Amino acid sequence: MKFLFDLDGTVTSVETLPIIAEYFNCKEQIAELTVKTVAGNVPFVESFIRRVNILGKNSVRETSELLAQVPLYPKVARFIEEHKEDCIIVTGNLTCWCEGLFKRIGCQCYGSEAECGNDEIVSLKTILRKEAIVDQYKALGETVVFIGDGNNDLEAMRHANISIAAGLTHDPAQSLMAICDYVIYDENALVRQMYQLCGQYGDSKSVVISCAGIGSRLGLGLTKALVQINGGSLISWQLKLFKEVEDLRLVIGFQGAEIIEEVRKYREDVVFCYNHRYFETKTGASYYLGARHANRESLEWDGDLLVHPDDVKMLLATPGEFICYGDITSEDSVCVHTNESGEVLNFSREGGDYEWTGPACMDKKHLTYCSQNVFNMFEPFCPMRGIKVRAYDIDTYNDYIRVSEITKDWKV
Ligand SMILES: [Mg+2]
Repeated sequence: MKFLFDLDGTVTSVETLPIIAEYFNCKEQIAELTVKTVAGNVPFVESFIRRVNILGKNSVRETSELLAQVPLYPKVARFIEEHKEDCIIVTGNLTCWCEGLFKRIGCQCYGSEAECGNDEIVSLKTILRKEAIVDQYKALGETVVFIGDGNNDLEAMRHANISIAAGLTHDPAQSLMAICDYVIYDENALVRQMYQLCGQYGDSKSVVISCAGIGSRLGLGLTKALVQINGGSLISWQLKLFKEVEDLRLVIGFQGAEIIEEVRKYREDVVFCYNHRYFETKTGASYYLGARHANRESLEWDGDLLVHPDDVKMLLATPGEFICYGDITSEDSVCVHTNESGEVLNFSREGGDYEWTGPACMDKKHLTYCSQNVFNMFEPFCPMRGIKVRAYDIDTYNDYIRVSEITKDWKV
């Protein structure tokens, strides 16, 4: 596996061109162009040529010395140092300007090339197409992870096997949201995800909350995570219940941007996992996408499921795999048959001992892609440990009224 990083704002904690511009007193010109470029409103190649025209008359040596001092995200930089052979920087920035910085980062770096003379830029030779470097490593049989934040990372992310839109320095370009696998706003969460991709897992369970659906049966015209329950959005309740969980992963699709905005009011270190095919797939696909690069055990949680706070605590503290169920409350529910020790024997649409409510917990070794329901993923592994919980899901408007009533006195 190879990790390819954009440089500016992804590995460096500031954008580098404004620093050069400030140093050489052409701040305003560059600032305006940078904002437009990052947002995708000026094509990258045109913007880059214009920026080099503005900055190229300055000393190349001084520029390189200046950029060598640029602050890096310390944990990202440490990850690169620990995985030097598998990390690669790909930047549109000029190699001659970044020489000092490249040396400091210490891994293989690719940039754009210019001809220099008399310590200034004479002409631009090549502008790096980041996707070409992605393709180069893929052709060697590598799985490529691309981490970037700008519109000029779009094609590279599209070509990569796994793409992470990073929002560490500024929000990722809007265009990335339509194609990326992950959006991560926090350095700790980003680095944790990279270690997980390397097979280095945390000891705790990951929690995967599926919030990708359109909430059609509820009829409020909102994805369920954003529905208001007793003065807060449903997702804000989930976030309170999972406050102690380190690796919290939210699978998003419909109204993903609104969910991100809501979640970030409460915490920044959530890993957002996209299910771009939310319209054609069911919760099984979302759970797979949320859990595939998570810790060994992932707790599957439907975004519309509220579980009593004491039961949430108990489940988080319960090691191993399990399936949760509750008393039968609705007519067309999926039920489970259990044995005398409470193990789940099978799932059934024609009645059973309890109602399958979720959540459930699966080990990585059993995880395979499924476009259907979560219970279809667990069926082959039954009998499995069963745990009875007080769980309430919100499928219909009547459920919504009922759950609002039940949860009124919960202390979270
Ligand atoms: Mg960038």
